[in-house]
Amino acid sequence: MIKGEQVYEGKAKKVFKTDDPELFIVEYKDDATAFNGLKKGTIDQKGVINNRVSNHLMKMLEEKGIKTHLVKQLSDRETLVTRVEIVPIEVIVRNIAAGSLSKRLGLPEGTKMAETVLEYSYKSDELGDPMINDYHIFAMKLATRAELEQIAAMSMRINQILSDYLRDLNIELIDFKIEFGRTATGEIILADEISPDTCRFWDSVTHEKLDKDRFRRDMGHVEDAYKEILKRLTGE
Ligand code: UDP
Repeated sequence: MIKGEQVYEGKAKKVFKTDDPELFIVEYKDDATAFNGLKKGTIDQKGVINNRVSNHLMKMLEEKGIKTHLVKQLSDRETLVTRVEIVPIEVIVRNIAAGSLSKRLGLPEGTKMAETVLEYSYKSDELGDPMINDYHIFAMKLATRAELEQIAAMSMRINQILSDYLRDLNIELIDFKIEFGRTATGEIILADEISPDTCRFWDSVTHEKLDKDRFRRDMGHVEDAYKEILKRLTGE
């Protein structure tokens, strides 16, 4: 597989063309940002860990019937993925109140939601990913009704599968953010990443945070937390 021209650079990843027009290479970086890019830093080995963690979880989801962009890992930091057009919506799935939801609704962190909460944000760095609802999505033509129905159903199913899988590893899935893409044939598949950058993971017993909140809140032991997640998932 030939690594071609860079097509995109985001906060945590770069994307490259390949000699196959339907395949891209994703390269994970150690760069970390928070609060809409206001806080910047690096987390040593984060790119290597997130590449492995995300691929491990996507592979597990594939085995349970969720279509993802994962093709195969190429190296420590690189993964071959199906080329998609990213649907410009961030889907946030919440089982337990934390972060911006706790602030917005005055719910103490750790409050269990009686039902899973789905939220959408418009993917826009300039605007700071504002929260939107179904009406905004249709009015702005970010996705069709059929696509959003599928995105919502897939998100709920992914939450179910991930929560069950992580529970056995003593990890509580508090909330997470996922993104979807459209393939060349118009199919909606899971894209982007699933990692401690994009999920809140708490130890089931101690409730210790094992995710990017350690970076956001200067709690220390950031690298250790990412390593711990990789170890629980893969034994490595
Ligand atoms: N999240 C993310 N990218 C974003 C915003 C949120 O990956 O741009 C994840 C975040 O890690 C958490 C969940 O989505 O697992 C919910 O985040 P929240 O809305 O509470 O925002 P935050 O507190 O991270 O600003």
